[in-house]
Amino acid sequence: MVNAESTAFRAALEAVRAVEPRIADAIAKELTDQRESLKLIASENYASPAVLLAMGNWLSDKYAEGTIGRRFYAGCQNVDTVESVAVEHAKALFGAPYAYVQPHSGIDANLVAYWAILADRVEVPHLRKFEKRQVNDLSDAEWAQLRAAFGNQRMLGMSLDAGGHLTHGFRPNISGKMFDQRSYGVDTATGLIDYTALRETAREFRPLVIVGGYSAYPRKVNFATIREIADEVGATFMVDMAHFAGLVAGKVFTGDFDPVPHAHIVTTTTHKSLRGPRGGAVLAQPELADQVDRGCPMVLGGPLSHVMAAKAVAFAEARRPEFATYARQIVTNAQALAEGLLSRGVKLVSGGTDNHLVLLDVHPFGLTGRQAEQALLDSGVVTNRNAIPQDPNGAWYTSGIRIGTPALTSRGLGAAEMDQIAELIHTVLTGTAPADGSKAKYRLDPALADRVGKQATELLAPFPLYPSVDLDEGAGAEPTSATG
Ligand code: PLP
Repeated sequence: MVNAESTAFRAALEAVRAVEPRIADAIAKELTDQRESLKLIASENYASPAVLLAMGNWLSDKYAEGTIGRRFYAGCQNVDTVESVAVEHAKALFGAPYAYVQPHSGIDANLVAYWAILADRVEVPHLRKFEKRQVNDLSDAEWAQLRAAFGNQRMLGMSLDAGGHLTHGFRPNISGKMFDQRSYGVDTATGLIDYTALRETAREFRPLVIVGGYSAYPRKVNFATIREIADEVGATFMVDMAHFAGLVAGKVFTGDFDPVPHAHIVTTTTHKSLRGPRGGAVLAQPELADQVDRGCPMVLGGPLSHVMAAKAVAFAEARRPEFATYARQIVTNAQALAEGLLSRGVKLVSGGTDNHLVLLDVHPFGLTGRQAEQALLDSGVVTNRNAIPQDPNGAWYTSGIRIGTPALTSRGLGAAEMDQIAELIHTVLTGTAPADGSKAKYRLDPALADRVGKQATELLAPFPLYPSVDLDEGAGAEPTSATG
């Protein structure tokens, strides 16, 4: 008998194929490609069949602007249930007093948080606290005052080359236009956040908001220390835990390293180490709750009810003891990968890792990040290039490669396989040379790339992805893990 998951996905594809076969083919092909690729992208994962299936239904048809029980549309009782369950799980999972699960992505979650902080903190001349008023009640003159007061407020966030994210006040993102941003970075010798310099900058710059969190910093962050600095200068402390939410949920990061008890407001994505659907969420202290609830319609469109359903499923999965085991294994694997690379002479930013990612400095191989990324891809190893502290090659070519273990850990790979992966990466990097004085072109023996590609495939063979899902003739295995 064909198992339920194979039946469900086959039926879905059949329905799609009847309308537009090219889309059905692309969906099916994506499964094949994901199964075959050695995915080391630190921000990606594999959501469970339950999470994926929770998204593919008629909850998508419903408009539900507003908040639970207070919608601008009629007939939202089922969306209310979905959102309430997701909120209940998010609060319990992270020990947060308040959760908002509507943001469609990490960027959106950050925008919701920035608006909430501005509305909570900025005193507008002649208006008492903005939070007491509905935006529609303001006269044109008051609205102009508010715009003037909100502009150019100060933000202190982690610099891009130290691992910060574009949404933390940088120019390609709207946050760079909303805030006058200054960065803190890492100590050049150790690669670790320089908390003393952070404190000095905060004292001098007096930011309205300090942002913690990162996309490419391989170490723990002491959130208790940053909160202390924020309190000293009167800043609101926000943490963007998009990358490491799974490690917070799985209780790998506790005490000073758990952002939730220390930050005023925490944002996250749900699809990275947390292994849920693509989306975002905000956790906050009660005093910010009213402002965060205005995320829709302030910066968000109508909530994606089907994705909120999938978030609820993912949060429920993350509350199970197996998820804590998974989260610990992510770090064990990242450390094994780091050890494997270090023992082969590869230079790592900060000399190792405490979390789910490792940042390689490929400069000693004479390569840019761009050349290394492409050579690894030619060899079946999927990574992404990333700037390293004080990167001489800038943000486009870079000198770093970022690799992460959440996805391969979901597939079941362990420390022994990580050492083999370190060997494959080292083989490719030593076998690649820059070409024509270019920062993009390189030479790599195709036979070597081919050999590494085959080894990568062999390495993955004992760890099938979504084994319970068989789109062809077979029955599919009985589900045994998060990825089926
Ligand atoms: N914040 C951080 C720290 C991230 O790493 C990312 C994504 O890379 C985001 C926010 C944005 O997330 P999304 O792509 O879901 O908008």
